[in-house]
Amino acid sequence: MAEQKEKKSKYQVLEEKLLYKNESIWQSLSHSEENEMENICSEYMDYISKCKSERESVKYLQNKAISAGYKNILEFNGKAKPNDKFFWNFRDKVLAVIKIGEDFNFSNGLNIVGAHSDAPRLDLKQNPLYEDSGFALLKTHYYGGIKKYQWLSLPLALHGVVILESGKKVEINIGESENDPVFVISDLLPHLSKNVQSDKKLSEAVSAENMVVIVGNRPVKDKIVKEKVKLYVLEYLFNHYGIKEEDFISSEIEVVPALKAREVGFDRSIIGAYGHDDRVCSYLAVSSLISNSNIKKTGVALIVDKEEIGSSGSTGSDSYLIHHIFSMIANSLIGQNLSFSDLRKSFLNSNCISSDVAAAVNPPYKQVHDLQNAAKLGYGVAITKYTGSGGKYSANDADAEFVGKIRGFLNSHKIPWQYAMLGKVDEGGGGTIAKYVAYYGINTIDAGVPVVGMHSPFELISKTDLYATSKFYSSFFAEYV
Ligand code: MN
Ligand code: MN
Repeated sequence: MAEQKEKKSKYQVLEEKLLYKNESIWQSLSHSEENEMENICSEYMDYISKCKSERESVKYLQNKAISAGYKNILEFNGKAKPNDKFFWNFRDKVLAVIKIGEDFNFSNGLNIVGAHSDAPRLDLKQNPLYEDSGFALLKTHYYGGIKKYQWLSLPLALHGVVILESGKKVEINIGESENDPVFVISDLLPHLSKNVQSDKKLSEAVSAENMVVIVGNRPVKDKIVKEKVKLYVLEYLFNHYGIKEEDFISSEIEVVPALKAREVGFDRSIIGAYGHDDRVCSYLAVSSLISNSNIKKTGVALIVDKEEIGSSGSTGSDSYLIHHIFSMIANSLIGQNLSFSDLRKSFLNSNCISSDVAAAVNPPYKQVHDLQNAAKLGYGVAITKYTGSGGKYSANDADAEFVGKIRGFLNSHKIPWQYAMLGKVDEGGGGTIAKYVAYYGINTIDAGVPVVGMHSPFELISKTDLYATSKFYSSFFAEYV
């Protein structure tokens, strides 16, 4: 006997039709989609394990573009045609990967997916090395929003560059290979931390000046020189890298967790790694552009720097960067005849996904979110109309019209998405590059991968959200007009 289907009540039907659904996407993944997702995730895990600085991320993604046939736009002197592929590297910290669309009329604008590759960390001070109580130590200055206690008693690696007096650039990457030593900021033992730490506010328990990295304990064998442990380190650095103490002044060395990306959970559904914010979106912006064969509008995967400290400086998006990129693309398309009117039209006809991570709910700390407007891990790419803080200050508040178009696009392409805002209205706040892009009149909306434990040394994302975000950026480049 056939099973009898129960008839739905009028209000059940109505509920299905009218309610905003926000569902976990694991249920709806097909077998082949799961395979595709696992492939993308394992490629991503290779990238995120290796790229611990903005320079390393830019280099990796540039090489990925070069392997896919992208050419340096500064070496191009012809007239670009549809499907031509370029990249622009600015100071090794900014990367624009550009694909000319079938509609190569410059005034019709560009489709941009913009992310940032800098991440919260500790930078070495410019004169960092000293000796104290038998240790050689390096002084640091934290970069971006970190909770200092999370960086204590953790294996750390050094990544960066030192520019010698001769102008030679020495690359530093120590602490990642199994045979490398690691470094550490040692925490105080609990037995003695009552007055110095435990009775204080969390934000005051660890001072910035105490964030000093242990790099040695072995003295040179000499009776006369004063700082024997420091000298041992300097001798080592000179012998291995040709670095003198003064060379630190012209260096950028980042202290980062010496951890590789790992699958998290019995079900391996989660990826834990340092720097998902915002390298996951950087990676997906570039990989989804270069994996597209034909795109309608000219596409740009834009990787910027300095987002974590307010997008300032020449490599941050609060600058002429966007202007430079538009001018360069115009040059390749229409030569030197770019008029201000063309440029203005192109800005106004462009669209940008400000591709940054969203704060997802962490179960013991639900109270900081308005759960009805909060991202959850495993529920799809997170769309955010505005960021900023209480009162919407400093937000790019995307027009309802643009949000509506993006929502329709996501639904028609069956891409799992969810609505997200950063937290409860007066709970805190934060921003993205959205407002700096919107400055040019470019339609801009925030959309990216939800993260738990953001800005910690080991952030969590869901494989499904990475997959959904990748699908969104791919379709956006391919078809959005
Ligand atoms: Mn970010
Ligand atoms: Mn951030």
